[in-house]
Amino acid sequence: FIGFGSLVSLAVAVLAGFFLAHRALIPIQSAWNRQSQFTADASHELRTPLAVMKLNLERLFRHPKHTIEQESPHISQAISEIKYMTRMVTQLLTLAQSDANQLELKLSPVDLSSLLEKTARGFAELAESKGILVTAAVEPGIEISGDPERLYQLLVILLDNALRYTPNGGRIQVEASVRGGQIYTSVRDTGSGIPPEDMPRIFDRFYRGNKARTRQGEDGYEGTGLGLSIARWIVEQHGGRIRVSSQLGAGSQFTIQFPMGRKRMSD
Ligand code: ADP
Repeated sequence: FIGFGSLVSLAVAVLAGFFLAHRALIPIQSAWNRQSQFTADASHELRTPLAVMKLNLERLFRHPKHTIEQESPHISQAISEIKYMTRMVTQLLTLAQSDANQLELKLSPVDLSSLLEKTARGFAELAESKGILVTAAVEPGIEISGDPERLYQLLVILLDNALRYTPNGGRIQVEASVRGGQIYTSVRDTGSGIPPEDMPRIFDRFYRGNKARTRQGEDGYEGTGLGLSIARWIVEQHGGRIRVSSQLGAGSQFTIQFPMGRKRMSD
């Protein structure tokens, strides 16, 4: 025999149990939703290059008498789509592995100053053909505990963007200094700048500014909208923060703040 009071307590306990279980499931549900959205977006993004490739290759069957020279624009377009997809799939893999916590940083002491100088020099050669000057103003001897490959990947993403969004004759500067126990690294360009309405979204996966969406570089290099989300992941894994400031038509500056010594978000 259960008294009324006990019944009420039991009901309250059951309701509280349901409430707590529901609350505990909310983060799991939202992680699940994020993953589903990621898969849907990735599939959607891959459909366009696949469709373009299909059209170009089907054309070859429709004109069996054409020579390779006659069809070469279509063949090279199919090849550019393959290159684009390869780049996107590699980036998607990095993001999927980071979501699954399968990417461990391989930490070691890194001479950040040398890494910046060396990477900037590599890009200077590449930029020369566009008449863009790449310079470095880096305090010597800045050391960071980090993953050298990931830090290099981060710099490549920022420099590659700077190069793509800066017109001929522009300038790109890589800087690094230590202030107040923090390391500040930045990549500054005199490029197109970022419209204010794009600013809050540029680190989102698949987000491309209007210009990037409509414009393909002369080499057919089209943005995937994934570079900056990978950049932010790398920075956060090193316990740092990345910020952007930009003026439309004048240029952009991406600044990364790293703590000195070993520190990771997941620690
Ligand atoms: P994407 O492959 O499109 O460049 P990112 O994630 O690297 O993808 O960048 C997202 C968007 O941010 C770009 O589409 C572009 O609109 C803007 N962006 C990034 N870097 C720059 C830059 N240096 N100058 C101007 N716009 C930039």
